[in-house]
Amino acid sequence: MASFLTTCMHQIIKMDKPKELLGYEKIEKFAPEKLKKLQHHYKEILKLIGEDTDREGLHKTPYRVAKSIQFLTQGYDHDPEQILLSAKFKEDYREMVIVKDIDIFSMCEHHMIPFIGKAHVAYIPNGYITGLSKIARVVEAYSRRLQVQERLTSQIKEAIQNTLNPLGVAVVIEARHLCMAMRGIQKQNSVTTTSDFTGAFERAETRAEFISLISSKLS
Ligand SMILES: [Zn+2]
Repeated sequence: MASFLTTCMHQIIKMDKPKELLGYEKIEKFAPEKLKKLQHHYKEILKLIGEDTDREGLHKTPYRVAKSIQFLTQGYDHDPEQILLSAKFKEDYREMVIVKDIDIFSMCEHHMIPFIGKAHVAYIPNGYITGLSKIARVVEAYSRRLQVQERLTSQIKEAIQNTLNPLGVAVVIEARHLCMAMRGIQKQNSVTTTSDFTGAFERAETRAEFISLISSKLS
């Protein structure tokens, strides 16, 4: 049975979050001191690769790259477990909750080149649920860091397991690694799939149900 969480959303959205749990809110903050240092180093890198940092097109590039890298790694400032706890609600719902096709934009920690794809996350509540958008936020918080896909997969799983203590968690990530496409072995279209499961999802039938639900199209 496909089980999408539709009940109680109204109530969930209206509930006040405790103040101390707001620390993860997405802020596009660029620490001035850090920005300056990054800018300096990126300018040096441009020179080292043989560029003329005085030419017009590159004039503001170190500044833009410095801002961009801070944006792309902002996950370090976010606490995924707090994100989940900020919207943890008692609910007697014990069917599979699935959030699929969550966009992933991450960077491989070996080459600092992007890997992009989709995450599919499911859990079976055991007395507590979380806001559906929070699952996507957790994926975001872990993917906006230097990562390897395997660790990203299990970190998402762990955060949900630790905070909601559900009957099971399942995470599948499918991603294209540009470090493979652009350099090295140049396998342009290969997709890497990783998965991690706990509890009820260790049973073959439950896992099969999840896999079939994330593979099916809604319309
Ligand atoms: Zn890589």
